[in-house]
Amino acid sequence: GSTIGILGGGQLGRMLGLAAAQLGYRTHIYAPEHESVAADVAAHHVQAAWDDEPRLAAFAAACDVVTLEFENVPVDTVRFLSGHVAVRPGAAALEIAQDRLAEKRFVAGLGGRTAPFAPVPDRAALDAAIAEIGAPAILKTARMGYDGKGQARLADASDADEAWETIGRHPAILEGFVAFAHEFSVLMVRGAGGETRFWDSPLNVHAGGILSASMLPPPPIVIEQQAEARAMMAKIAEALDYVGVLTGEFFATDTGPVFNEMAPRVHNSGHWTIEGATTSQFENHIRAVAGLPLGDTAVPLLPVTMRNLIGAGIESVPRLLAEPGAHVHHYGKTDVRDGRKLGHVTWVGISPA
Ligand code: ATP
Ligand code: MG
Ligand code: MG
Repeated sequence: GSTIGILGGGQLGRMLGLAAAQLGYRTHIYAPEHESVAADVAAHHVQAAWDDEPRLAAFAAACDVVTLEFENVPVDTVRFLSGHVAVRPGAAALEIAQDRLAEKRFVAGLGGRTAPFAPVPDRAALDAAIAEIGAPAILKTARMGYDGKGQARLADASDADEAWETIGRHPAILEGFVAFAHEFSVLMVRGAGGETRFWDSPLNVHAGGILSASMLPPPPIVIEQQAEARAMMAKIAEALDYVGVLTGEFFATDTGPVFNEMAPRVHNSGHWTIEGATTSQFENHIRAVAGLPLGDTAVPLLPVTMRNLIGAGIESVPRLLAEPGAHVHHYGKTDVRDGRKLGHVTWVGISPA
């Protein structure tokens, strides 16, 4: 068999590793952290910094292809690796996805619908941005935000100082608040030859800025807006010559689907595909980066519900294991903290009640 290198050491890498093993591939993990739940299921863990060129070169030499499970791998790391081995997806996709401003400009440039937005490089620019966009609005750090961290909501201009302090990291972006009916994601995979497939879009429910559940079938408005959102994502993938799973987060609104952000990787809102689809997002990502034919993305049985086990939520595992039809995934993380994603559970063909 061949070896697939994965940049990043979290649960997405772990589930990619399990899918790779099923297809006869070995995985090597490159991740700076000492403990890695991806490395736990991999053949090898290179624990080194993102800028350690000798270790990166040795990692590349040991792999037939390299992919990633973490979108904030430094672009320079991916560029360096690309001189030694194929990296899928490549630096272009990462560069855009790592910066909310570049991302929204890119998508708007392709004709996509986004929230109104303005760059906020410094405190003075925030006042100008509020004057331009109005309120309510959301101030977000341009880089490194996740799970709603690095964001502050502004009810009106008098919240500017507090919002600026709250997000901590600058530069930032101000976005108009989108009055949406629902949130959904487009889960797509693009093969090495450009073939594109989509899974059905789930309804995504957030709590405290963190995804808590993904459900199918979604409400009618999501089904109605799915085609336009898919067309947008296909355009993005084409423009980036993207290979692998690409996820787009959208708001369903009265005026159509509004692009929020993308993830150049497998996504939490696609975890249900392991049991709920003919081919999972993890398997199709491995197939795509390995240059294999893509698998069928059909969803044979509805409804499908995925619920995250976050923080103390992991304590429900013993009860869930006793429940018929509950597919339990425990990520094996030893550091149990509030707000940390520690596992998930999926039900297929069973009402979410
Ligand atoms: P993720 O964990 O998905 O990467 P993130 O920290 O990158 O999250 P976003 O996805 O941009 O942040 O925002 C988190 C959530 O906040 C969204 O899923 C949505 O519920 C809400 N939100 C973000 N931007 C807007 C907006 N412009 N208008 C209304 N709600 C928004
Ligand atoms: Mg995000
Ligand atoms: Mg998001």
